[in-house]
Amino acid sequence: MDYDVIIVGAGPTGYMCAIKLIEKREDLRILIVDRGKSIEKRTCPVLNHQLSACPKNKNGQSCLPSCSMTCGFGGAGAFSDGKFNITTQFGGWLDEFITKEKILSLIKYCDQINLRFGATETITDPYTDEVRKIEQKAIGNGLMLLRANVRHLGTDQNLHILSKIYSYLVSKHVDFIFEKQCEDIIVENNEVKGILLEGDKKITAKNVVLGVGREGSSFLSNMLKRHNVTFTNNQVDIGVRVETSNIVMQDINKYLYEGKFIYSTSQGTTVRTFCSNPSGHVVIENDDGVILANGHSYADPNLGSENTNFALLVSHKFSEPFSDPNQFAKDVASLANRLSCGSVIVQKYGDLKRGRRSTPERIKKGFIRPTLKEAVPGDLGLCLPYKNLSSIIEMIEALNYVTPGIANDHTLLYGVEAKFFSARPKLSSSLESLEIKNLYCGGDGAGVTRGLAQAGASGVLIADKILEEY
Ligand SMILES: Cc1cc2nc3c(=O)[nH]c(=O)nc-3n(C[C@H](O)[C@H](O)[C@H](O)COP(=O)(O)OP(=O)(O)OC[C@H]3O[C@@H](n4cnc5c(N)ncnc54)[C@H](O)[C@@H]3O)c2cc1C
Repeated sequence: MDYDVIIVGAGPTGYMCAIKLIEKREDLRILIVDRGKSIEKRTCPVLNHQLSACPKNKNGQSCLPSCSMTCGFGGAGAFSDGKFNITTQFGGWLDEFITKEKILSLIKYCDQINLRFGATETITDPYTDEVRKIEQKAIGNGLMLLRANVRHLGTDQNLHILSKIYSYLVSKHVDFIFEKQCEDIIVENNEVKGILLEGDKKITAKNVVLGVGREGSSFLSNMLKRHNVTFTNNQVDIGVRVETSNIVMQDINKYLYEGKFIYSTSQGTTVRTFCSNPSGHVVIENDDGVILANGHSYADPNLGSENTNFALLVSHKFSEPFSDPNQFAKDVASLANRLSCGSVIVQKYGDLKRGRRSTPERIKKGFIRPTLKEAVPGDLGLCLPYKNLSSIIEMIEALNYVTPGIANDHTLLYGVEAKFFSARPKLSSSLESLEIKNLYCGGDGAGVTRGLAQAGASGVLIADKILEEY
């Protein structure tokens, strides 16, 4: 065998797995393969404001199959806001495999790694009197508050931590192959034997870990289906990114940093707030050519804006005969891309309620200055399904009791934002495939997690199982 462990994907699943392995057994031969670039080479003209939208759309060029925003060392979270949520209440479904206590101990291990490599000591406390007051208003209006201790790394600090982790792994003789795609796994007698890299290069290993993230989830399911692995998935989350003034959000920003609420609408849908960015910026996310709204914020206050943004997502669960929820979300988002000529739509809440499009003039007259200048004023009512849009409106009206002012005419909505649920292969409690021995699937790509903390925890869980053999 060329390696003891090959890890496909250098996101939190991959690098936390490698750290745990190497800390316990320095002699292990480990290879990490990622189709994106190493951390210092990851850059995007959109991120640097050199281009106003993804080059694929404006110039006909394409960074695909490897978009530097979401691929490469650090994975999708590299340019993220880096909110490290210490909780089992959200961020993934590891509780379907292991106990909540075990999840917390794995998350805390990852948190310690981040601290060792330079993360801030500051962490939010979700059990203060102020938070209880916010919760009281929420419960009274049908909103449930989810709690977490949040360590906000910030995009700038996150990159710094990732650079240090990368150098550490290199110093421990972990091998890396960047800018090469894993195309297949080698399987003999239902046991994994290695991977096939693009260009038909075979690399053998005793164990293979697939931590390919949401970007790699289609690759993972298509490839494993060829090896007769069975999958489940019936859900997708679709919605908008809301942008309002920091003043409207000040209590939540101050006492919680991120207010996570869930709400059951009169239509039977569930809406949740997600990924809140105080003093943040709305950004574009390129998901395999589909342009989506997202958001981030910097730890450095000098780089902050006057606005807070967060996502409002409606969960859509499908039943027979439909079985492709991710494609449904991509089709909805593509409609917004088409109407905005390859970007995302921005609309004032007041315009949405009046059933009219936002025009550049109406946005200009608004009190909230959009932080995503490239978003095209338009009408979300033309692309979001009725059930989705009316659920979002209901949630905004409910939130108005907790954060008075959020339902004012000037609040901006960017669409479409979507969170894809990766199809999940059949896995053991240590995330080993029940159909292919020594093959492990973790993180967002395997439908196991949805966030930095649980993704990292899934990598450590896998490492612990592999270490049992050594
Ligand atoms: C803009 C943005 C902001 C976010 N903010 C937060 C936040 O504040 N807090 C939070 O908890 N979460 C946040 N997230 C989510 C978080 O980043 C992910 O949950 C996390 O990165 C998932 O980790 P992962 O290891 O499963 O996969 P990823 O981080 O996606 O890494 C997967 C890696 O696999 C590689 N890959 C895929 N397919 C292949 C292949 N075939 N061959 C080789 N390599 C491959 C990709 O290039 C990628 O680098 C954010 C995400 C985005 C996009």
